[in-house]
Amino acid sequence: MNPEELMELKREKDAVIFAHYYVDKEVQAIADYVGDSFFLAKKATTVKEKNIIMAGVYFMGETMKILNPDKHVYLPDMKADCPMAHMITVEEIQEMRQKYDDLAVVCYVNSTAEIKAHSDYCCTSANVKKVLGAVKEKNIFFVPDGNLGANIKHLFPEKNIICHSGHCPVHHAVTSEDVRRLREEYPNAPVFAHPECQPEVIESVDVQGSTSGIIEAVGKTDAKECIILTEEGILWELENRFPEKKFYVHEIVCDGMKQVYLKDIVSILKGQKEEIFVPEDVSVRAKRALDNMLNACEN
Ligand code: SF4
Repeated sequence: MNPEELMELKREKDAVIFAHYYVDKEVQAIADYVGDSFFLAKKATTVKEKNIIMAGVYFMGETMKILNPDKHVYLPDMKADCPMAHMITVEEIQEMRQKYDDLAVVCYVNSTAEIKAHSDYCCTSANVKKVLGAVKEKNIFFVPDGNLGANIKHLFPEKNIICHSGHCPVHHAVTSEDVRRLREEYPNAPVFAHPECQPEVIESVDVQGSTSGIIEAVGKTDAKECIILTEEGILWELENRFPEKKFYVHEIVCDGMKQVYLKDIVSILKGQKEEIFVPEDVSVRAKRALDNMLNACEN
């Protein structure tokens, strides 16, 4: 199917396609909206189409469904998943709530609907500072990304931020030795890293930022070459926006994001895929955490 036929079918089916920066470029190329989790979550509340296709991993489809309970939400591959989303359990949250009276649970968006339902706030790497700044409670249980929590907690010395030990396996695998080697190989290139990397890696780079934060920071630097430490799918956006710059992307490949294929999007449009389902009681409670995130970012 050529791109024009796909667009026609999409219009006919009243569908909109969202894609994360980490999926393959052929999928990004046909999407209506491409962005990081925060952008996609905000955008999801504004679209008119009845059918939403989320080209990303499972928690992203769930998030879309929670924000749009009356719409049909589809994922190209229901098995495309984020391992970090499953590293925290409801029991761990309950134990922490019993231990502290004055506790807020802040969950990274890379978490299941069930975990969001047991949290007070959701956050993404793009808005984590604003969300933590909005929390009134003294104690914060930050789940599941221990690296993101550890990379941000110094900005809130007045809070007791307890970070869970979850992590993104592919960002966590980057080492400060990788950074040293890359700097030696490309001495004129500043290093930009995602805060899902370990704190010792973040300490050794020039800029830490969410996916959209990295893209913005690359746009501001005069450097002609940049080293990028996040999932390699970001290259498509970087090369499109900054064709005059050269990018060196350390090999960070998310298996779940790479399970998203164009052929599966076509199958959805032809009516051959099941849709995402989130039980109503879970959805209502999880939406509260997502709404608290969106409200914190408005102020
Ligand atoms: S890059 Fe890491 S955190 Fe993001 S979806 Fe993949 S495994 Fe999960």
